[in-house]
Amino acid sequence: MTHKPFVLLVAMAGLLSTAPTLPPSPAAAQPAAKPPAPADPRAKAIADVVTANHILADQGVVDGFGHVSVRDPTDPNKFLMARSMAPELVTAADVLVHDLDGNTPAPASVKLYLERFIHGEIYRARPDVNAIVHCHAPSLIPFGVTGVALHPLYHMSAFLGAGVPVFDIRKATGGPTDLLVRTPDLGRALAKVLGPHPVALMRGHGAVVVGHDVQQAVFRSVYTELNAQLQTQAIALGKVVYLDPDEARKAEETMNGVMSRAWELWLRKVKDR
Ligand code: MN
Repeated sequence: MTHKPFVLLVAMAGLLSTAPTLPPSPAAAQPAAKPPAPADPRAKAIADVVTANHILADQGVVDGFGHVSVRDPTDPNKFLMARSMAPELVTAADVLVHDLDGNTPAPASVKLYLERFIHGEIYRARPDVNAIVHCHAPSLIPFGVTGVALHPLYHMSAFLGAGVPVFDIRKATGGPTDLLVRTPDLGRALAKVLGPHPVALMRGHGAVVVGHDVQQAVFRSVYTELNAQLQTQAIALGKVVYLDPDEARKAEETMNGVMSRAWELWLRKVKDR
């Protein structure tokens, strides 16, 4: 009882010492673990495009070719993607705002990716998609040309459980092409084949991989390629037991919750570039 006034005074002094009117001291700074809030959502998205390009190159999903885009967080009818160049060399200064028709404010002398219509037409068709990867990852190519379907054979690629459609550009054009999705019509045809899926293969060409965010699109790209490698090995060994649909659904849910771990690792490998 007799100590109560003293305790009250100490408590009041404690309140005063943390009052916001006091000048900040370095010792009372934010904990180091808390990441700084992005000052500008578009700047953050541009940084994500650069990082995703470097990670996909480092992980062997893209080489001199292939591209990755992120939907513009400030305008859903625009997306951010580099000018035409090798993914590993992309810097923030190379990232351009594209509209869904594939136009940019850059001068005509700036070369754009011929296949930018892949991105615009998928963003138009899929409001749930905020990042897209287009690649020619080598292990995927056989599955686009043989009729052998890509199936998830381990938990990391469970997102393939709903099936992987194959886009055959001949069916869209009715005649021979250079295989490139170089018009809005072809972009729309590809988006239609992709439907609600996370991945579509492109016969004689490569694949398109989408995600709710850039981390998911990159994760799915890396593990689609790895699954294709493993499936080719497994088929050579004998009859393959794939994940069944229920397993795939459960495993996908689990992996969606932990995929940032992979992004952090892959980011570390490329951060000094
Ligand atoms: Mn291509």
